Amino acid sequence: MNPLNARDVIDNFDLILLDAFGVLVDDAGAIPGAVAFIDQLIERKKDFFILTNGSKFTPDVSADGYRKKGLKIEDHQVLSSGSLLKDWVSAKGHQGKNAWVLGPESSLQVVKNAGLKPVDFELDADSLVLTNQDGINFPGDFDAIISRIFNLHQRGKNIELVCPNPDVVYPLRSGHFGITTGALAALMEASLDALLGAGSPKFSYLGKPFPPLFEKATAGFKGKRICLIGDQLTTDIKGANDFGITSILVTTGITTEVADHSKIKPHFILKNLNL
Ligand SMILES: [Mg+2]
Repeated sequence: MNPLNARDVIDNFDLILLDAFGVLVDDAGAIPGAVAFIDQLIERKKDFFILTNGSKFTPDVSADGYRKKGLKIEDHQVLSSGSLLKDWVSAKGHQGKNAWVLGPESSLQVVKNAGLKPVDFELDADSLVLTNQDGINFPGDFDAIISRIFNLHQRGKNIELVCPNPDVVYPLRSGHFGITTGALAALMEASLDALLGAGSPKFSYLGKPFPPLFEKATAGFKGKRICLIGDQLTTDIKGANDFGITSILVTTGITTEVADHSKIKPHFILKNLNL
């Protein structure tokens, strides 16, 4: 794990993949250094994409949010875990089928774009999509969903669970953190396991560290020098390592140091994006 500075990254890579939360933005706005870093990528004509596990917004809405923070990111440069939902729907043959959605209003469009039909909890559904911790009435919505799944199971009907975002925590602002979608999925799985035992439904996870987002981002860049800059070991760094590209941990998000005993190690450590 060699230290690196942001200018080295720009000099040494052709395609730069960036995580969003903890790297470019947090709840307080653009992370110091991020705006100038993106400006420099554009000036140097480097290719870059944002690989986010966020599934709260469609990519165009996310890009607009980044631009409002001063980050010059175009719609097509945002590759989100939410946009992978469409492939999952196709693989399951669920096009046009009813889905329950746990998450904010904005994520209903993500679910609709994937080809599912969001419905109220009172109606039967074939899948549950857990998009984000925002907009969930907790524990009321969880109570309603686990009860519905239990009752469907009693009638011999199984439901597919999908969580586009496997992240369990995210950075709110410097030194403050929040729990997120993956943690809620784990909680729901534990509850269903207690109720239904073996054979209880499990979540499919779609974003990093799994290959599809990396495959989409790197298609057309064969033979190029590619890196990913991220702040989470289990999603960003593991994903990049498994995919065979250079992993760079930036310490402005949830990981400020890598323990010696950590099984997941980045190739490089970057203190921040300051040039
Ligand atoms: Mg992050």
